[in-house]
Amino acid sequence: MWFRRDLRLADNPALLAAVEAGGEHGVLALFVLDPFLWQRAGAARRAFLTRCLRELDASIGGALCVRTGDPVSVVPEVVAAVDAAGVWCATDFGPYGSDRDESVAVALESIGAPLHRVGTNYAVPPGVVRNGSGAPYKVFTPFTRAWRAAGWPAAEPSPGAVRWRSLAGERVPAVAVPEVVLPEAGEAAAAVAARRFFEGPLANYDCDRDRPDLEGTSRLSPYLRWGCVHPRQLLGELDDRPSHGVFRGELCWREFYADVLHHQPDTARHSLQPAMTAMPVDEGPTADQRFESWAQGRTGFPFVDAGMRQLRAEAWMHNRVRMVVASFLVKDLHLDWRRGARWFMDQLVDGDLASNQHGWQWVAGTGTDASPYFRIFNPITQGRRFDPDGDYVRRWVPELRGVPGRAVHEPWKLAAPPSDYPAPIVDHAAERDEALWRYQMLRSGGGSGGV
Ligand code: FAD
Repeated sequence: MWFRRDLRLADNPALLAAVEAGGEHGVLALFVLDPFLWQRAGAARRAFLTRCLRELDASIGGALCVRTGDPVSVVPEVVAAVDAAGVWCATDFGPYGSDRDESVAVALESIGAPLHRVGTNYAVPPGVVRNGSGAPYKVFTPFTRAWRAAGWPAAEPSPGAVRWRSLAGERVPAVAVPEVVLPEAGEAAAAVAARRFFEGPLANYDCDRDRPDLEGTSRLSPYLRWGCVHPRQLLGELDDRPSHGVFRGELCWREFYADVLHHQPDTARHSLQPAMTAMPVDEGPTADQRFESWAQGRTGFPFVDAGMRQLRAEAWMHNRVRMVVASFLVKDLHLDWRRGARWFMDQLVDGDLASNQHGWQWVAGTGTDASPYFRIFNPITQGRRFDPDGDYVRRWVPELRGVPGRAVHEPWKLAAPPSDYPAPIVDHAAERDEALWRYQMLRSGGGSGGV
């Protein structure tokens, strides 16, 4: 059983198939640390992954075999070492993962041990939901209806007693991230987090999910990212209550973006809407300086800075704030969305190529959004609306802790603004006009390269 993004025993169809096929010979559990992916993951994601691996190892009595290297050579070596009849894994739909699996399948075929791809990390596998004429959906709302109609089977329990084979492997590397507070890792922790959410915040999820000052969301994204929980296990707990419907819809966004990326893998790097590739973006020393201020949470816009500091402290950010900081980078600072997306992928513990790149493209107006570029988030009114008492800002921006109530969203209006907090690096109203002007120029055919 080759584990990748499915680090759990329950509701794991590939594992069930491997256990059945292995019979009395048993199953070897393998994880390959692929340097290509490892180097691209930031420290927080590496740390969380290694902790999940340790949990998985403990749950199978220390039998997880971890090997470092290119799976195209490592997987056949391991197969030969234990004389395995075949390799079972979940289907990977990412651009890199699907190419890698093709190469591994060819290598395994040549030694007579086929690669069996069973199940996916989605309720409905990418590529399945199609419109009436058989084409993939380009916008979310019709996708979500067809996705629900496609349906999914009930979650399966963990396999019973498994005879785990053992094979010498490596120690799971220890990755220290002393400056980041990460959630507990692994399948059992995911189950605890899910239970906490179902018994608490879910009841008001439809009202509270946009409030970063409250614990109103599930915080399940890192577990879904690494497959410590399958979305089917969550969907199976939902009924027809409005808050349940809203939560189901959010899980569907994850599936929608995976579907879009599956059909158009180059949208991980390029704008989905070709016309938007000509949108002029700022480059050079001033742009670099502004990017740094954004990344370090020192833009002088408290709601933006609170989000960027939460990202550094927790390797996670609330969804509403992700939208606001992304809009700020693209439409107030006029930087390329890919720059921000790279920073997110480096920092996020839940960094997922499909959700991240398309979350960014949605905000940047280059992706799947039907009402695109001219929706520009105002970082001050967003703060006042979704952090009405300013608690979120005060939690993450210590320089502003002494400012009471919602006044915290506009510290420059105070009689004595805190001297250690920066003044706004741009004028939002002016940059909004600039963004709209650039968009008009692009539409009228006047767009060009960098500015
Ligand atoms: P909940 O509100 O509890 O939602 C439950 C689950 O639904 C989430 O865990 C997630 O799997 C899924 N989900 C919710 N909203 C979205 C969404 N808009 N798009 C896709 N899936 C969603 N999510 C990631 O998992 N990885 C990313 O790298 C990522 N990058 C993002 C970048 C930007 C610019 C934006 C705007 C959003 C991004 N998201 C990403 C989506 C969303 O912000 C997170 O999934 C969510 O904040 C995770 O918190 P939660 O588990 O408490 O969410």
